[in-house]
Parts: sequence; C-alpha cells; structure tokens
Amino acid sequence: MFIVGLTGGIASGKSTVAAVFRENGIPVVDADAIAREVVEPGTNAWKKIKEVFGEEVLLPTGYLNREKLGEIIFADATKRRMLNEWTHPEIHRTIMFEALKHFLTGNNYIVLDLPLLFESGVMLQYIHKVICVTCTPEQQLERLMKRNTMAKTLAQQRIAAQMPLEEKCEKAHYVIDNTNELEETRKQAQRIVGILNESWEHWRIRLYI
Ligand code: ATP
Repeated sequence: MFIVGLTGGIASGKSTVAAVFRENGIPVVDADAIAREVVEPGTNAWKKIKEVFGEEVLLPTGYLNREKLGEIIFADATKRRMLNEWTHPEIHRTIMFEALKHFLTGNNYIVLDLPLLFESGVMLQYIHKVICVTCTPEQQLERLMKRNTMAKTLAQQRIAAQMPLEEKCEKAHYVIDNTNELEETRKQAQRIVGILNESWEHWRIRLYI
C-alpha cells in the first residue's frame, strides 16, 4: 500500500491541499473525521470519556462537547494522554481499514490527512512520503482564531500543544507554502500530485523486480 501522509499544524491549510488530491481522483482518508466517529455516542471510547470526565463534556444530544473536552485536555497533559489511549488504537485500525478498501477497489495510492502524524508517530511506519503544509505562526494563529471564533489564548494553547510547524517541515519530503493566495497553494499541490504519480510508478516497479 503506497500511502502519502498529509500533515501540518492546526489551521495551516491542509484542507486546500486535500481538495486538490481529491479533484485528481486520489482518495483522501481524513483522520480527523475518523477521530470524530470513534467517539460517537455508544462507542467504547465515548463510554470511557463519559465515565471519567463526566456529563459536563456531553452536549444535550449525547454527542461530545468538543470545545469543552478540548479545553480540559489541552490544559492537562495527563488527561490528553488518557484520551489518546482510549481513542488512538481504534482510530489507527479504522484508518488502515479505510486505506485497504481504497486499494482493493483499484486505487494506486492514497493520501492520509493526519494533522498529528509526527506527534503520534504510530502511523509513520506505513507512510512512504510526507507532505507538510505550512504558513507563518502569525497567519496560523490569526486563521485559527477567525475560523473557530476562538479566543487568542485558547488558540495559542492549541498551537503550542503541537510540534512546531518548522520542525514538521524539516521531517517532511515535500513542503507546501500556504503563506500566499490559496491559488498559489493549489498550484504547489498540483505539482506534487504529478511528482507522486511518478513516485508511485517507481515504487511499483521496485516491487516487481
Ligand atoms: P485543521 O487541521 O485545523 O482542520 P487545516 O490545516 O485543514 O486545519 P484549513 O481549514 O484549510 O486548515 O485553513 C484554516 C483556515 O485558514 C480556514 O478558515 C481557511 O479558509 C483559512 N486559510 C487557509 N489558507 C489560507 C490562505 N492561503 N489565505 C487565507 N486564508 C486561508
């Protein structure tokens, strides 16, 4: 399975890049969407969260109050670790299952949109190439505050809980600079689609030699 990891920081612009891959017919597995699924009401992780964090992290509908839970875990590393232990194994299993489904239906390679690819580390062993989407720290903060209508201190806390963008970019094979217009970002992503289409061919040839 040829898997390309798409990473970056919170609000650094991964969605734009993911959209370019989708437009090119390349499946994108969205780890954030999967992370939401595994804590839906009734799941094992949801039961554990309810039991340990209490009703205060639930909405009247029974779904998690993500803002509330976010405030708790971003202010407390032990609670963040606990939550990760309850959810990560199921998230990883579901990601691999989704990836397998795409390969079995004839896709050459897939993109895995995983913001915390380097932080969690586990999925790295399955990834062949990594793309990091970056922007300046000021832009990241401003875009996050605007998109999530989030207070500055909270946004700063969210960003600080992640590996610095610069460090992620150093570890990546390809870096997409999202400091300019979105069209500029899309052009860079399109160039990488071309390069990866060729990389996949080389990888496949190596497999058969
Ligand atoms: P997350 O992982 O947090 O979901 P992301 O990396 O997918 O975020 P986006 O949602 O693509 O980031 O971008 C964050 C916000 O910044 C969005 O509101 C988006 O419209 C805005 N944004 C992204 N890129 C640019 C850009 N080049 N110029 C202006 N605004 C941008």
